[in-house]
Amino acid sequence: MTNHLFDLVRAGLPADPAAKTFIETPDGTTLTYADLLARSAAYANALVALGVTVGDRVAVQVDKSPEVIFLYLGAVRAGAVFLPLNTAYTGAEIAYFLSDAEPALFVCDPGRREALEPVAEAAGVKALRTLGGDGRGSMAEAADAAATTLADVERAPDDLAAILYTSGTTGRSKGAMLTHENLASNTRTLVDLWRFTADDVLIHALPVFHTHGLFVATNIVLATGGTMLYLPRLDPKKILELMPRATAMMGVPTFYTRLLKEPGLTGEAAASVRLFISGSAPLLAETHREWQARTGHAILERYGMTETNMSTSNPYEGARIAGTVGFPLPDVALRVVDPDTGAHLPAGEVGMIEVKGPNVFKGYWRMPEKTAAEFRADGFFITGDLGKVDPDGYVHIVGRGKDLIISGGFNVYPKEIETEIDGLPGVVESAVIGLPHADFGEGVTAVVVGGENAPDEAAVLAHLEGRLAKFKLPKRVLFADDLPRNAMGKVQKNVLREIHAQLYRS
Ligand code: ATP
Ligand code: MG
Repeated sequence: MTNHLFDLVRAGLPADPAAKTFIETPDGTTLTYADLLARSAAYANALVALGVTVGDRVAVQVDKSPEVIFLYLGAVRAGAVFLPLNTAYTGAEIAYFLSDAEPALFVCDPGRREALEPVAEAAGVKALRTLGGDGRGSMAEAADAAATTLADVERAPDDLAAILYTSGTTGRSKGAMLTHENLASNTRTLVDLWRFTADDVLIHALPVFHTHGLFVATNIVLATGGTMLYLPRLDPKKILELMPRATAMMGVPTFYTRLLKEPGLTGEAAASVRLFISGSAPLLAETHREWQARTGHAILERYGMTETNMSTSNPYEGARIAGTVGFPLPDVALRVVDPDTGAHLPAGEVGMIEVKGPNVFKGYWRMPEKTAAEFRADGFFITGDLGKVDPDGYVHIVGRGKDLIISGGFNVYPKEIETEIDGLPGVVESAVIGLPHADFGEGVTAVVVGGENAPDEAAVLAHLEGRLAKFKLPKRVLFADDLPRNAMGKVQKNVLREIHAQLYRS
């Protein structure tokens, strides 16, 4: 037995690690697979010297730099549990995560050290080190001074590799415990499905504290010995500049909508790219179609979550259908059930999506009751997302269970109404929620962010009448300057529901 997840990296190593670029940054820095081996070993040794032992959590809230990836691998090689935290989290939020996770070490940005030191101390964290977006700081220095060889700590497939907190869209974030095999199996499956090889050059502009950028994107490149063009953040102009050298890009829908605003985005600019992938949030069918018209490429949309890694993907060969998230991965079982009875639903019917497979996490950190409640007796995980499987086998996500509105006994899916409203000229975006209502149980309510020449309430309602069944029509249309979002940029409908809870009660 060896270190299960790092074995995957070893298996993908090029014959001459010093001759192959792993990461290239915009300032022209290139780091090879030899750097990866040496630097991750140095971090592993430095962690051990700091007192981190097998199974200890290493919490990290730092700006994106190649060093974060080496620290992640160093933690894995030392047998520790990597625990990345969103860089947008405030001191109060960090206080919660540190007291919940009880890490042996907390690594933060040098600029935040002063503010976070008392927070870490209050949470009982014994060691604090820094790592900056420039790759420097006391943690990097500890690695500089450490040996660059090491015997990897043995870890079995079922041992924890990481704890990743969910985005906190529907409530307080939960720590998802991910095993070495959860991450390794999903990587192997996606490498096969999406045909990644050592020749691939991936545009990586995602954050590395979230499952998408840290695990899906990075692990795939690591497992194949490929190259990442590594950008600190979404920068459409920079991405366009790099595109002629890339073979693949992974992004959230915002990547695609922002890039579509660039006149330089053409079929020619995207000619070398064989695969554009989107996930983490629904990709509008309209974006899918526009992208195809402009570049000639059909974006491959897939579906996953912190707890399950990736569960579905549109096909590599075959039709990538806009508005769907494709088929369950070959090693993932997916079913749609009646959320109340658990009865399996036939194709075409909307219900709760449940998944089972080697990708599915081990449970929520220190929440045994919540974990038990989210798994069925036969091992299926209740995702909380509503969806259906169409007659061709494509999975459609229609929204979150918690956002479903039941008005006058009828199910109303907010996404359907939002899509109609968002199509109106002058509308920037919208969120449809259910609010307590004496007659209907829940009253369908639209909150609209208007731009120039925004329609008023009557115009929105006039647009919807005739397009939607009467029971789906909003009882009220409210206007707002923006929608509340969490640190991942996802709209927090629970916050909206709280703000407007009294709307129909007065
Ligand atoms: P929390 O669980 O704390 O409320 P969260 O669910 O937003 O936060 P993540 O694990 O980052 O945290 O997000 C996973 C969710 O994102 C999925 O459950 C699903 O609702 C949504 N999602 C991901 N990919 C897609 C997609 N392609 N289409 C539609 N929704 C998606
Ligand atoms: Mg979730």
